[in-house]
Amino acid sequence: MVCFNRDLARDLGLDADMLDSEYGAAVFAGNEIPEGADPLAMVYSGHQFGMFNPQLGDGRALLLGEVVGRDGLGYGIQLKGSGRTVFSRNGDGRAPLGPVLREYLVSEAMHRLGVPTTRALAVVTTGDSVFRERALPGGIITRVARSFVRVGTFEFYARRGNIEAVSALADHVIRRNYPDLDGMERPYLALLEKVIGRQASLIAQWMQLGFIHGVMNTDNMSVAGETIDYGPCAFMDQFNFQQVFSSIDHQGRYAYCNQPYIALWNLTRLAECLALILDDDREKAVEQATEALEKFIPRYEVAWLQGMRAKCGLGETPGQAGEDHKKLIGDLLDLMANSRADYTLSFFHLSSLGSREGPEDEAFTGQFGTPGPAGEWLARWRDSLRGQSLDDRERRDRMRRVNPLYIPRTHLIEAAIRAAEDAGDFSEFHAFHAVLRNPHERQPGKERYQMPPAPEEVVLETFCGT
Ligand code: AMP
Ligand code: MG
Repeated sequence: MVCFNRDLARDLGLDADMLDSEYGAAVFAGNEIPEGADPLAMVYSGHQFGMFNPQLGDGRALLLGEVVGRDGLGYGIQLKGSGRTVFSRNGDGRAPLGPVLREYLVSEAMHRLGVPTTRALAVVTTGDSVFRERALPGGIITRVARSFVRVGTFEFYARRGNIEAVSALADHVIRRNYPDLDGMERPYLALLEKVIGRQASLIAQWMQLGFIHGVMNTDNMSVAGETIDYGPCAFMDQFNFQQVFSSIDHQGRYAYCNQPYIALWNLTRLAECLALILDDDREKAVEQATEALEKFIPRYEVAWLQGMRAKCGLGETPGQAGEDHKKLIGDLLDLMANSRADYTLSFFHLSSLGSREGPEDEAFTGQFGTPGPAGEWLARWRDSLRGQSLDDRERRDRMRRVNPLYIPRTHLIEAAIRAAEDAGDFSEFHAFHAVLRNPHERQPGKERYQMPPAPEEVVLETFCGT
C-alpha cells in the first residue's frame, strides 16, 4: 500500500482501520473481494478525437461495487490497473505506477480546489512489471465516483438502436444522480439539461484554474459532471490560450481554449442518444434536444464570468459595469498571454493587493515580462474596485479562497513520479500531496511547491499512461 485516504474512507462510511492493513492492500490490489461486493466491468463506446469507436469499456478498470456515503449519496468504487477484463481488447489491463500516482495527486488536488471530481481512495504497487516502452513498476489506483456512466455509455446502446437500454440507463442515472427529476413530465429532457448545466459549470472551473484535461473524448465525460480519467492532464504554468500538453493531441483538439466547445460537442453526442427517447415524434425530440444544447454556451459564459470576477475581487454588477468587467478580465488574460505570465501566481498575488498602489504591487507586476502594462491594468482594476461596497479585507479574503497558491504543477508531479518509479522513494509524493491538501494557505517552508518550473524542469509533453 502506497497510500490510503482515511478521510475519504470515513466519508464513504467504510471501516478505515480495517482497510488500512494487509487486508486493505489485498482489496485494493484486486486480490481479495470485500464482502458484499459484486465486481463488474462496464461497456461503453466513445468518440475518440472525433472518431467513433464502437466498443471501448473498462479495459483496465473494475467496479468493485457501490456504497452509500455518510452524506446519503451513492458512490461507485473502482480499481484501475487491476488486470484484463472482457473489454481489454489488446491491452494488458495494467497501469504503470507513474500515471496512478499522477491521478491520485491531481484528483485529490482538484477536490481540495473545489472542483467536482472522482476521488482517490488508495494506491498500491503490484510488484509486477508493466511493459510499455520499457519495463515499469505496476500500480493500481482505487477511485470513487458519483457515477462511472459516461456519455460513451449512452452511445454504446444508442448506436445499436437499443432504445430500451437507453431509457433503462437514463432511468438509472436519474435514480442514482438526479433523483429530483424522477416523476417529472419530461425526465429525459430534464436529465439532458442537468448534465449540460453541470458540465457548463465544471468546464468553467477548469478554465478558471488553468486546467487542461487533455483527452476529452466522449468516453471520458461523466454524466455526473465530475472530472474523470486523469491522463495527460496538466495545469498551465505560463498562460497560453492555445496550450496543449498531450503527446497524442497533434491538432490541438483539446487545447485549453477549446474545452468549452469540445464539451458542447460531446454533449451533442449525448443529446443524440437521448433524442431517441425524448419524444415519440422524432422532429420534436430533435427540437427539444437542440434547445437544451443551445443553453450550454450561455450557461458556461455566466459561470465563467462569475468565477473570473470572483478571482479578480469584482462584485456582481449588472448592465454596463458587467461589460466593463468582462473587458477588464479579457485584457488581463491577453496581457498574461503576451508576457507568458504564470497564471496561478498572477492571480495569487493579485489577491494580496490593496485598493491603493503600494510596494506589494511588484509581486504581481513582476509576473509580467515588462511591468508597465500590468501596472496600467492595476490602475484600471482599482478604478473598478472603487465603486464596490465590499470592505477591502473581506475582498482579499474572498479572492484568496478562489486563487490557490499551490496547484499540482507538472514538473513537481514528474519529480515525485521519478523518485517513486526509479528509486522506490515515495517521500516526495507524500510531501507534495500534503501541501496540496491546503492549496489556498501560504505554508511556511513550502515555497518550492509554489514555484513555476526552472527552464530545465519544464515538461513540454504529457502522456495518457495507458
Ligand atoms: P483512456 O485513454 O484511459 O480513456 O482509455 C481509453 C480506453 O482504452 C478505455 O476503454 C480503457 O479501458 C482502454 N485501456 C487503456 N489502457 C488499457 C490497458 N492497459 N489495457 C486495456 N485497456 C486499456
Ligand atoms: Mg477513459
